[in-house]
Amino acid sequence: MNRFAAPFLALLLAVVPTNPAASQIAGAPRAVAALPKPVLALEGGRWFDGRRFVEDNWYSVDGRLTRKRPARIDARIDLRHRYILPPLADAHNHNLQNAWSAATFADDYLRRGIFYSAQLAANADEIAGYRGLLGGAGRVDVLWAEATLSSSDGHPLGLALAGAKQAGMPAVAKDYIDKAFWAIDTRADLEKKWPKIAESQPRLVKVIVVDDAHAAAQRKDPSSYGQRGLSAALLPEIVARAHAIGARVAAHVDSADDIDRAVAAGVDIVAHLNTRIPAGLGAADLRLSDRTIAEMKRRGTVIIPTVAVTRYYLKAHPGDRATLMGVIVDNLARLKAAGVTMATGSDLFDGSVIDEIEAMGATRVFTPTELLRIATSVTPQAMFPDRRVGVFSEGAEASIVAYDADPTRDLTVLRAPRLAIKQGEVLAR
Ligand SMILES: [Zn+2]
Repeated sequence: MNRFAAPFLALLLAVVPTNPAASQIAGAPRAVAALPKPVLALEGGRWFDGRRFVEDNWYSVDGRLTRKRPARIDARIDLRHRYILPPLADAHNHNLQNAWSAATFADDYLRRGIFYSAQLAANADEIAGYRGLLGGAGRVDVLWAEATLSSSDGHPLGLALAGAKQAGMPAVAKDYIDKAFWAIDTRADLEKKWPKIAESQPRLVKVIVVDDAHAAAQRKDPSSYGQRGLSAALLPEIVARAHAIGARVAAHVDSADDIDRAVAAGVDIVAHLNTRIPAGLGAADLRLSDRTIAEMKRRGTVIIPTVAVTRYYLKAHPGDRATLMGVIVDNLARLKAAGVTMATGSDLFDGSVIDEIEAMGATRVFTPTELLRIATSVTPQAMFPDRRVGVFSEGAEASIVAYDADPTRDLTVLRAPRLAIKQGEVLAR
């Protein structure tokens, strides 16, 4: 049964092989890579169509869904009236960005029914040794931001230095600058370093903007060293260069004004909404203007609200909860009303997009059905626009996750997937 034995998953199966030859072939592990995918009959499930669950049957042929009954069926899978969703997607995380964390966390994704992850501040050299081991059948698909651009005194330098210190290693800025991230302080830096950045052929470039309106004041405060960002005035040039090589741009932002500047510069993805109340700012500085929201809609800018990650800030500043959550609810409600595309991303090292779905649900701006549509359809399609994912339709990738109960009635159902198929292969214990 090697054919079905991806060792990554602890999911319960109801697989009934109907073709004895299939299990013989599967006994030869060397041949696995060359084996055709099994033809599956997926019967008796209730399939999410973006609004409701509908009784339906599908076949998986060559890893793609079809309604046309194939001549040969290798295995019939009785879905037992389970609730079938396209797999979840986490559009903002960092927990696969080095070899150790990738080895530790990659399989958690599939176990949780999350097949797609965006790693939003990777660097090409660091991931080069293992990125080829991820993606495809039985493995989480990753969208990498292969290049991260910040200032020479900016985020994520502070995190890197703190991490080095904690590990008892020398904490020296030059070990990280133009290695872990690109330091772009001036137009001349961009001019000089861009050829190197472009060399890795990034599909996605991350830029760090941190309360840009008060950048000068920040730099007078030594405690903000390593947590600042690049000048938003450089963004139009960065976006133009990225788009010219076919890369999208995602922006880390801090205030409503940062979002306004990033959107006006043409970034494709705003990677946060409000995650904290920056020093010296108040709720009014976090509230998106109607003009910004209208511009996002006009340009098709995607925003990843990362509501769950407020937990880190609120743990240290519990008194700010009502203010911060109030402005988040207000912003989300107006973004939704305007029809701005939102994607689910957790930004949680120790959590997942399921936490984000719950956090977005707790704002009461979205119904569970809307959240499931965002997390299983809108988000994977925004991450992988060239693939047929996030939808059950003729020719779409045969990737499904089955649950025992209806997640539109109770989102905690997402914590217990029962069966999963990725690109036509059953993920098994
Ligand atoms: Zn992040």
